[in-house]
Amino acid sequence: MASMIFTDCSSSTMSRLIHLDRRNGAFLPHPCVGQLSLRTTASGRGCTLSIRSSSSPSAIVINGKAEAKKIRDDIKIEVSRMKESIGVVPGLAVILVGKNEESATYVRNKKKACESVGIKSFEVGLAEDSSEEEVLKYVSGFNDDPSVHGILVQLPLPSHMDEQKILSAVSIEKDVDGFHPLNIGRLAMRGREPLFVPCTPKGCIELLHRYNIEIKGKKAVVIGRSNIVGMPAALLLQREDATVSIIHSRTKNPEEITRQADILISAVGKPNMVRGSWIKPGAVIIDVGIKRVEGRFVGDICYAEACKVASAITPVPGGVGPMTIAMLLVNTLTSAKRIHYFQSSSDLKG
Ligand code: NAP
Repeated sequence: MASMIFTDCSSSTMSRLIHLDRRNGAFLPHPCVGQLSLRTTASGRGCTLSIRSSSSPSAIVINGKAEAKKIRDDIKIEVSRMKESIGVVPGLAVILVGKNEESATYVRNKKKACESVGIKSFEVGLAEDSSEEEVLKYVSGFNDDPSVHGILVQLPLPSHMDEQKILSAVSIEKDVDGFHPLNIGRLAMRGREPLFVPCTPKGCIELLHRYNIEIKGKKAVVIGRSNIVGMPAALLLQREDATVSIIHSRTKNPEEITRQADILISAVGKPNMVRGSWIKPGAVIIDVGIKRVEGRFVGDICYAEACKVASAITPVPGGVGPMTIAMLLVNTLTSAKRIHYFQSSSDLKG
């Protein structure tokens, strides 16, 4: 079984920020960046980042915050284009049950993000002891409401509720979280397309794409197998032709598996569990895990150690987190476009 290791090895001092702009091909490395090799892609749209087994002391920081901002800027333009052309404003409804502080913060952030791009948000807050029927009533109301294009039931739900029953009640056309069993089932099947992909794993893959990190043919390892992150992340990597292994709490000697990974995604929630010695030199690391330790957020990856071994890494915070919310906005916009047969502009695909 993988063991939990707490160590104060997380630090931002190893961060070396670069900015890689895919659209104009500009590459603006921070002066401290180590060895990188760039070549222009066949499409000419950008450049491919070739990651070498590095003897350089630090990894590229995959800047999720900056990428998420670019995505939000694009969404804002699309939302106003849609409003001007057909008079429709995309709408996202969020149902929050109970007083879980973390959930309330997530919901607040989602609302703020919606406002910042012009998406209308609807929020329902229900008491912890609400009945399942009450939640289902709101889900059904939003399913029928034409001004709502995305419905999100904030998880976790109180233990007396059947999560599966409630998630299944969300109309598959408005399932912007991608948690409906039909969407997950389609994600798992070859030749089928889900209407929506869960936001956090989608954000992980989007970051790999935006940094032109090749997935096809690579050995990818995902730590964690939850329905909302680990499992869909593994499915997405497989759809992109990676060879995927999954590590969970019963996996023996996980470090032997992670050491083979060209791409490592960790979604556990155990601070600093993955040490530098678990990482293959030159690997790309996506750290989904986030936990507050002594007043600051810490990921699953022992950041300072990983920076010396990996070729690229997401920081915590500022890596996957902002991308999750950006993907929720993308999914909501995609849904509104699909429902109203509004064509995508070429730059922003769902
Ligand atoms: P979860 O439902 O608790 O799942 C955790 C997974 O980690 C499980 O599959 C579990 O294995 C596995 N695990 C637990 N201990 C392990 C160990 N010692 N070695 C290997 N695997 C182990 O959590 P989650 O919802 O997927 O979230 C995971 C982390 O990502 C959390 O820190 C969460 O806060 C964070 N998160 C971040 C975002 C974001 O936007 N940045 C979004 C969602 C989640 P079993 O299946 O065997 O129990």
